[in-house]
Amino acid sequence: MNKDTITPKELSKKVIHHYANSEKDVEIINEVIKKYPVKYTPFLLRLFEKSEAIRKQFLPSMQEIITNGTPTPFEEGKKASKTYGLERLYRDRVLITPNFDCPAYCRFCYKKSRVMRNKPGMTYEEIDKVAIEVSQMDQVRGALITGGEPFLDVDKLFYLLDKISALDNISEIRIGSRTLLTMPEIFTDEMCFKLASYNQISTENPEKSKYLAINVHFNHPDELAPEVLKACNNLTSSGITLRNQTVLLKGINDNIETMTHLFKMLIRNNIIPYYMNHCMPVEGSDHLRTSVQKGLDIYQYLCTESSTAIPHYVYAPSGGKVHVGPDTTFNYIIDENTRYIKVKTLYKADEFKEIAKKDLPPMHEITSDGFIQGLYIDGNDD
Ligand code: SF4
Repeated sequence: MNKDTITPKELSKKVIHHYANSEKDVEIINEVIKKYPVKYTPFLLRLFEKSEAIRKQFLPSMQEIITNGTPTPFEEGKKASKTYGLERLYRDRVLITPNFDCPAYCRFCYKKSRVMRNKPGMTYEEIDKVAIEVSQMDQVRGALITGGEPFLDVDKLFYLLDKISALDNISEIRIGSRTLLTMPEIFTDEMCFKLASYNQISTENPEKSKYLAINVHFNHPDELAPEVLKACNNLTSSGITLRNQTVLLKGINDNIETMTHLFKMLIRNNIIPYYMNHCMPVEGSDHLRTSVQKGLDIYQYLCTESSTAIPHYVYAPSGGKVHVGPDTTFNYIIDENTRYIKVKTLYKADEFKEIAKKDLPPMHEITSDGFIQGLYIDGNDD
């Protein structure tokens, strides 16, 4: 081998320490990655060469060592089913997680404690059990297949889709995935054709129609590389709806120009801007979190654009998602060095307890009229 050649291992090492400027920095990054592992795909590695916005989402920062966040903001107060991989957080839909792992780890992942901790995926027997359990949930009509990354084990995903789509009560199936960015090469014609077969529109009896859509995850226009858009186009031209969920990230997309550009590019390429999520307070991601107000400033501008390019802007205390409108004002509580937003959610405490089979999450209480009220750790714009 030529001595100037860099082996994949050396390249990988260089990439992991991209944000280190000294030996001390290398030590800190090594500490960070012991706590929060690093993982990325060969395709992402190629994108890293071109885009700081993409590097910042996957490469470890020294700032991750100091944090105000919690390890499990997503899981707090949720324990919805006796069956591994099944959760019911809302009246009408369930979450099914066939794999907890991902092909690449986003530094701001709100499910870090699951995704980065080598939790085993569901077995085929557990999928069979889930199908039986979901078939008995009368009010449930939708299944969100989430992760980790559902496409990490394609055979298992199709086994699950076969089981779930056969249930009489399930008419809406959504798959939450970031593989369009991390492994776009998997969306071959055959894969798209197979996925599209779960769209069963009954023109005679629309009540019987079923559909499958994919919730994709793009945060910056740089992610819309030709290979990525080709994969998206393969899916949409096969009849699969793509809806995008963006996470608002400090120093990556927290400005009007980037967000409007991203949403315009998505629309033009047949992807619906669906959600703009405030980055959840998961530990090690403080440096990527803006204030909720900063997202509102961007959102107010978006509301003056064509309505097709306006996603829902939400933040999510553990007690349930909160929608932010252009006229929203926030009720702040300052405690020591942390700023919280106190908010009454749309969810009834009794219903939450019945569905989640657990008490309210920490920092949550019941209002006098029975709704869940919680505190959400705000980010900062320093
Ligand atoms: S793709 Fe989603 S689940 Fe996987 S690491 Fe990123 S945010 Fe977490």
